[in-house]
Amino acid sequence: MHQHPRPRFTYLGHATVRCDLPGGEVLLIDPWMTENPACPEGLKRFERLDAMLITHAHFDHMGDAVELAKRHRPAKVVANFEICGWLGSKGVESCSAMNLGGCQDVLGLQITMVRADHSSGISDGDQILYGGLASGYVVKLPGGYTFYHAGDTGLFSDMQLFGEIYRPELAFLPIGDLFTMDPQQAARACRYLGVRKVIPIHWGTFPALTGTPQKLEKALEAFGVNTEVIGLKPGESY
Ligand SMILES: [Zn+2]
Repeated sequence: MHQHPRPRFTYLGHATVRCDLPGGEVLLIDPWMTENPACPEGLKRFERLDAMLITHAHFDHMGDAVELAKRHRPAKVVANFEICGWLGSKGVESCSAMNLGGCQDVLGLQITMVRADHSSGISDGDQILYGGLASGYVVKLPGGYTFYHAGDTGLFSDMQLFGEIYRPELAFLPIGDLFTMDPQQAARACRYLGVRKVIPIHWGTFPALTGTPQKLEKALEAFGVNTEVIGLKPGESY
């Protein structure tokens, strides 16, 4: 079924996803490995890193952004305007800011920043700074293959529009509950998006994140949604 080249996705635990693109470039979504208890030790370092996408400013989504951006200079960092400003103040020189609804070309990919219902404060020392709006990303490859990383979010019915406009084949959706959607909401999100495959994220990292891929499978079945759950453990690839 996959006529179009797609990335190899490696789940690094929590919301962190490494995408090895067909041309060999490495794209990292929500860089958090060093302190990430779910990330396998051997996968915390990269030989190569070409770009990063940051969905929002919380530590569990950009904890490694500054160090990685410096080590892999000039890897491009995509985030909202406020996060890019803050990263710049920490010495990151290769930010490419955008905001909700906008699209930009990165590594030949069309990157669209889309809505997420979440917060985005920047922890800086003992202060929390304004970090703009939280977001998700829709990523389209040159051949047309399209995937969606929702970041952290609750369910919202505009996901139907993402399905209609971008037609993603695959979605990375949070299912942990407490800070994001639970599996029941994620099953509805799959229906709204019309995706054929879903990779659950933001679950199991801490005991409080109680959603599981099995619960998502059950919820999809109960709602009669025909989306396949690709239940990756940290370190596994699809
Ligand atoms: Zn989070």
